[in-house]
Amino acid sequence: MHKVVIVGRPNVGKSSLFNRLLKKRSAVVADTPGVTRDLKEGVVETETGRFLLVDTGGLWSGDRWEAKIREKVDRALEDADLVLFAVDGRSELTPQDLEVAEYLRRKGRPVLVVATKVDDPKHEYYLGPLYALGFGEPVPTSSEHNRGFDDLVEAIWARLPVRAEESEPEVAAIRLAIVGRPNAGKSSLLNAILGEERVIVSEEPGTTRDAIDAEVYVGGQRFVLVDTAGIRKRPETLVEDLAIRRSFRAIEEADVVLLVVDPFQVGDRELKLANHALEKGKPVLLVVTKWDLVPKEEAPQVRKELGLKLAHLAHLPRVYTSAVTRRNLERIFSEAQRLHELNHARVETSELNRQLALWTKRVQMPNFKGKPLKILYATQAEVAPPTFVFFVNHPEFVTRAFENYLKNRIGEDLGLKEVPFRLVFRGRRE
Ligand code: GDP
Repeated sequence: MHKVVIVGRPNVGKSSLFNRLLKKRSAVVADTPGVTRDLKEGVVETETGRFLLVDTGGLWSGDRWEAKIREKVDRALEDADLVLFAVDGRSELTPQDLEVAEYLRRKGRPVLVVATKVDDPKHEYYLGPLYALGFGEPVPTSSEHNRGFDDLVEAIWARLPVRAEESEPEVAAIRLAIVGRPNAGKSSLLNAILGEERVIVSEEPGTTRDAIDAEVYVGGQRFVLVDTAGIRKRPETLVEDLAIRRSFRAIEEADVVLLVVDPFQVGDRELKLANHALEKGKPVLLVVTKWDLVPKEEAPQVRKELGLKLAHLAHLPRVYTSAVTRRNLERIFSEAQRLHELNHARVETSELNRQLALWTKRVQMPNFKGKPLKILYATQAEVAPPTFVFFVNHPEFVTRAFENYLKNRIGEDLGLKEVPFRLVFRGRRE
C-alpha cells in the first residue's frame, strides 16, 4: 500500500488534517507495542484506492524541532511515497517551517504542501509565499469547514507512483463496540486488550478527539475497537444520557457488539443495550468480566443465576473473562469473529426451500376465513443481518405465532440462533 506521511511544525493542524482524511476517525494501530504512542496510522479509503496515512503529530513536544523527533520522522519517511508538508495557511511562514522545509528537501521524498486552516476562500490569495518553499503548488484546506479535501486527495494521487496490483492481501477489519453499564469493567477490559500503557488520546493541543478507534490483531485477524474514547471517559464526567447515546452510536458503527457484564450487577441495562444492538442487526457477545472475583466453587451457581437474569438473552454466546487474570481474552476475539462470520452466512435458496418444505409440513398453517397462508418460496436477500424474504399469498395471514415458529426453525435448523437474522413477508400472487 502507498504510504503518505504528514509532517509539519507543532500546531499547524496535522491531527485535524489526519482525522479529516480518515473521515474524522483516528485509528491507532496497536499490533506493535511502542509504535503507537507517537505515530498515528490509518488507512484512507478513496475512490481511486486506499493509502496508509501516517501522522507524525504525536512526536512533537513543545515547539522544538528536536533531534530526537527528527530521527523518528526520518524513520517514518524511510519508505514514504509522499510527504504532506502541513503549513498554516493563515500565518506567515515561521523559521521552524523553513527548517522543516530544508529537512524535507534533503530527504528527497516527493512533497505536497498542504495549507491548513484556510477557512475562507479569500485566504487563498495569500498563499503566495508558500510557493517559495519550492515544492510546487500548495493545496488549501480547512479541516474546520471540511474544505479542499477532494482536491487534496486528487493531488495526493497525482503524486503517488503508479503501482502494479497490490500484492499484500488486505484483511477486512471486524469492528467491535465495547458497551455496558458504568463500572461493568469496560475500560479495564480495553486496557487489558491494548496494554495498560497504550492510552489512546491525542495529545496535540486543540485536538480533543471525539471518537477514537483502536486496532488490534488477534490470530491474524484485524479488529477495530470503535469509539474507545467513549469507553475511557470516566462515567462521573459523562452525563448518563450522553453515555447511552454514545454506546448506541458505537453499536451502530460496529459489526459485533461486546456487551460487558459484571456478574454481580445484571439487569435491565444489559437487556436494553443488547436489544438495541440486535434491533440494529448486530450480533452480541456477552462478555462476563471480573470472573476472578468469583470463587471457583461458586462459579456454577453464579453462572446459573446469571442465566436466569439474562434469560431473554439465553441464545447469545458468552465468554467468562477477567481483566485482572486476562483469562479468555483471546476467546473474546475468536467468538466475535465467529459471530461476524455467522452474521454474514448465506443460505442457498435451494437449501432454504428444501428446509421450508419440511417446516411447513410439520405445522398447521395459519388461515383466514378458511383460506390458508401459502408460502410460495423463500430466499435470503441480505447478510449482516441475514434477511430472509418469504413470498406468500397473503402477508396479512402471517401470525405472530407462525413467525416465531419460522424463527425457531431458522435459528435451530440453519444454525443462526446466535445472530439477529430477520424475516420479511411479501405478497405474491399464486
Ligand atoms: P467501566 O466503567 O465499565 O469502564 O468500568 P471500569 O473498567 O472502570 O471498572 C469498574 C471497577 O471494576 C474498577 O474498580 C475496576 O478495577 C474493577 N474491575 C474491572 N474489571 C475487573 C476484573 O476483571 N476483575 C476485578 N477484580 N476487578 C475489575
